[in-house]
Amino acid sequence: MERPDPSGDNLYRLLMGPAAVTPDKPAVVEADADGVLHEMSYRRLEGLAQEYAAVLDGLGLDVGDRVVIEADTSAAAVALLLACSLLGLPFVTVSPQTPDTRLLSIVRSVEPALHARAEGLARRERVEAQGSARFGPGGLVVERPPARRVRRRRSVLATDTAYIVFTSGSTGRPKGVVMSHRAIVTFLRAMLQDALAGSGDRVASTSPLQFDFALFGIGVALSSGATLVPVRREDLSSPRRMIGFLRDAGVTQVHGVPSLWRPVLRHDADLLKELERLRSVVFAGEEFPVPELRRLQEMLPGARIVNGYGATESMAASFTDVPRPLPAGQERLSIGHAHAGAEMTLVDERGGVVTRPGLTGEIYLRSPALFTGYWNDPEATAAVLVDDPVDPRHGHKVLRTGDLARLGPEGELSFVGRCDFQVQIHGNRVELGEIEGTLTRLPGVTAAAAALVPRAGDHVLMAAVVLDGPTAELDAGAALAFCARELPAYMVPRSVRAVAELPLTENGKVDRALLTQKLASPRGTSDVRHATNA
Ligand code: ADP
Repeated sequence: MERPDPSGDNLYRLLMGPAAVTPDKPAVVEADADGVLHEMSYRRLEGLAQEYAAVLDGLGLDVGDRVVIEADTSAAAVALLLACSLLGLPFVTVSPQTPDTRLLSIVRSVEPALHARAEGLARRERVEAQGSARFGPGGLVVERPPARRVRRRRSVLATDTAYIVFTSGSTGRPKGVVMSHRAIVTFLRAMLQDALAGSGDRVASTSPLQFDFALFGIGVALSSGATLVPVRREDLSSPRRMIGFLRDAGVTQVHGVPSLWRPVLRHDADLLKELERLRSVVFAGEEFPVPELRRLQEMLPGARIVNGYGATESMAASFTDVPRPLPAGQERLSIGHAHAGAEMTLVDERGGVVTRPGLTGEIYLRSPALFTGYWNDPEATAAVLVDDPVDPRHGHKVLRTGDLARLGPEGELSFVGRCDFQVQIHGNRVELGEIEGTLTRLPGVTAAAAALVPRAGDHVLMAAVVLDGPTAELDAGAALAFCARELPAYMVPRSVRAVAELPLTENGKVDRALLTQKLASPRGTSDVRHATNA
C-alpha cells in the first residue's frame, strides 16, 4: 500500500514551512564533539528528514506505530522526529541518560516498532524493542527491522498521535502523555500569535530531549523560521562553558529550567554580561526562586525574562513577562493569563468557579491544544480530563492541572503550588511553598525547599536553603527565629540546612523525594550548617 501522507495539521508541515521560504537560513546551529559550531540549513534539514522518512517507509510500518528516539537534541534528532511525523509514526523521546530500568518500562509500555538511537550511543542489551536502528547526519541505518505490518491506514490525520512524552514524576507517578498533531500544531500557532520568538532569533534549548521543554524549543524555533541552538550537556557542566557557548553561538533566547542559572549566579554572575545578544530568557517547569530571579534580571539588563507555566498535558499554558523590577516583598510570581486561544479558570474545593480576587483555587485549563490522554491509562486520563466546571452540559473536557493559584484583580493568576505539595501537620494544612517563600526572604538565601520528613513515627517539616555564594554561611538559629516570627508555629521547620545545591531530577527540577531522603538522614549531604529548633 502507498505511503500514508498527512491530510491536515501535521508537525512536519508546520516546522518545515520555513524550508520553502528561507531554505538557506540555518535551522540548527550545533557544536560537534570538538566543540566546533556547524550550521544546518532548513533545506538540508528537510532533505535529511526526507531521507530518514524513505528508510522508515521501507519498513512498512502503519500509522500509529511508535518509534523510540534515544538522543540528545541535535539536527539529526530533529530530522528523525520530523520524519516520524510525516509518516504518522508517534515518536517517544528518551535521553541517553535515561536509566535502563526506566527505558525498559517505557518500551514495555509503548511496545515500539523501532528503537532508534543517535550515532555513538551504546546498544542497550537489556532493552529489546522489535526493531533497532541508529541515526546521524549520514543517514538512518536499520540494524534489526521490525516485522512488516499490514497497513490499515491511508493517511495521517490531525487527530493522530504526534508524540508520547513520559512525565518525570514530579507531578505524581510517570505517565505517557499522548499529544496529537492537532494539539501540538495549535499550541505552536498560539506561540506564533504571541510572538514568543521571531525569525531573527537563535533559540538555545537546554533540556534533555525526554522532557517536552526540549520539544517546545524545537517547535518554537522552527515554526518561527528561527534557528535552534541545542546546548550539549558538557557545555552545561560549568558556568564558563555554558556562557562561552551561548555567547559564541550568538544566542538571543534561552530556554531552560530555573536551576540552569543557579551555578552561574552563585559562582560567576559577572560572566552573564558577556551575553550581549541575549534578548529573552524563557524559564518553565517550576517556580523560579525570587532572589535568584532578581539577580538574573540585574545581570541581564537587556533581556526579557518570561515565566512559562504549564504541564506536558498541554505543553504549556501561559507565558508571562516577569516585571522589571520585581516589586519589593514579592514572593509569588504571576503566571498571568493563558496563551492565545486558551483560558485558565480557578475552581474552589466545592467545585465552584473562583471569581473574587485574592481567593485561591485549582487551575483548570480550557484549550484546543490539550493532550489526547495518557497512554493506555483511561482511568488516569478520566481523572484529569474532566467536565468544564463553568458549564458541564456542553460535554467538553478541560484539563484539571493539580496546581493552585490565586486570582489577581485583573483576572491574572499567581502560582501558589501543586495541590499535592499541601501537607497536613497535626490537622493544619501547610503549603510548602509558603515556607520556601519565607526562607528566601532571609538575606543571603537565594533558593529554598521544604519537605515533610518522617521522624520517630511522626512527620516533621525540614528545609534546605542555598546561599548566595560558595563561602557564605548560614546562621541557622537566626533563620529559624525569622520563620518563627513570620509563620504560624505549626509551619516553622524543625530544622534548616544550607546545601550547595538542591537535589535535581533528570529534567532539572527540585527532586522532592530525594530532598526528603537527604533531610531525613542525620548528616544529609554537603551541609555547611545545620540547626534545629526542637
Ligand atoms: P513532571 O514534572 O512530572 O515531568 P511536568 O513537566 O508536566 O511533569 O510538570 C508540570 C508541573 O510543573 C505543573 O503542573 C506545575 O506544577 C509545575 N510548573 C511548570 N511550570 C511552572 C512555573 N512556571 N511555575 C511554577 N510551577 C510550574
